[in-house]
Amino acid sequence: MEFDLSWIFLGLPLAFGLGWFASRFDLRQMREENRRAPKAYFKGLNYLLNEQQDQAIDAFIEAVQNDPDTTELHFALGNLFRRRGEYNRAVRVHEHLLSRGDLSRADRERAQHALALDFLKAGLLDRAEDALRRLEGSAFEGQARMALLAIYERSRDWPQASDIARRMHDAQQGDFSTRLAHYLCEQALALAAHGELPAAQALLEQALATAPQAPRARIELARLQQRQGQPEAAFDTLQALAQAAPAALPLAAPLLVETATATGQAPQAQALLQHHYEVMPSLDLLEAVVALEAANANTAAVGREWYVRHLEREPSLVAATKWLAGETLTHEQFHPQIQRALEQAAKPLTRYRCAACGFEARQHFWQCPGCQTWDSYPARRVEEL
Ligand SMILES: [Zn+2]
Repeated sequence: MEFDLSWIFLGLPLAFGLGWFASRFDLRQMREENRRAPKAYFKGLNYLLNEQQDQAIDAFIEAVQNDPDTTELHFALGNLFRRRGEYNRAVRVHEHLLSRGDLSRADRERAQHALALDFLKAGLLDRAEDALRRLEGSAFEGQARMALLAIYERSRDWPQASDIARRMHDAQQGDFSTRLAHYLCEQALALAAHGELPAAQALLEQALATAPQAPRARIELARLQQRQGQPEAAFDTLQALAQAAPAALPLAAPLLVETATATGQAPQAQALLQHHYEVMPSLDLLEAVVALEAANANTAAVGREWYVRHLEREPSLVAATKWLAGETLTHEQFHPQIQRALEQAAKPLTRYRCAACGFEARQHFWQCPGCQTWDSYPARRVEEL
């Protein structure tokens, strides 16, 4: 018994000693690691300054393994690589972050978002879509949905785009009704191009119900009705357009003339066009008024007075060129050359221009081919802007 007690007396200090030694050892190891981590940063920085970026990344990865606090350094690096167009490296950095088990939820979402941006910038849309879908329910949900919408629009996947837009609309992330109507119109046009006219019409009517204030569905519907041999219906649709969205009437002015002439409603169309022309003296409305007047009077000379009236209000090269085309000059033999030069000069003025990016085009676009913005083309020509 005594013998055992003496062992305990001896053992206690020994245990203390061992514990003290172990704690010293841990501390030394910790200091060693802390010293090692800054060393890895500097090694990485050195590589970076020497433009040895692969080695720099390896050094930084080593640093982050030794010290989890280097997360910010990884984000900075990843963004740097993405900005430089080095998408593989950006992906590598962000995937490495995501593979770590000790990452906070906020940092994990941030890394997932950064990874999605890498794929987007690299043009790897399938992988970007997958990465963005993982952000549903995260702090980046709104941004991710916008990016997904852009992907689906670019690939003309209108049902998927509609699904996202509807979710954003329901979550009150903005009013997406006009955009949803555009998607329906796009699908309707695709059907109409394949001759499926009744199905196209059903979609256009749905688009009209989705966004009654938007002009596109009415214009496309009138075109479709005219194509189906229903000029009366088309004329009625355009009259409704003039009521609901008068600013867009110039886009449909030639069709209005066509349907009015076909249905014997030229006087009504003329009154409608003149009324809107008085409110907004647009070149397309002017052109339609001239066409109807000339057809009525059976002579182009009557219509041409409208160009002079327009010139009294607006100093328009387009209108002046059109008026001059029907004029007889003192030196008539030079008229063709003069006319050609004027028409050449007036041509760029008849283009449409995107209000968001300034991209100009001969035809009107509902979505700008330059910057992908919807409804950024006013229904007015460059000369009228
Ligand atoms: Zn644009």
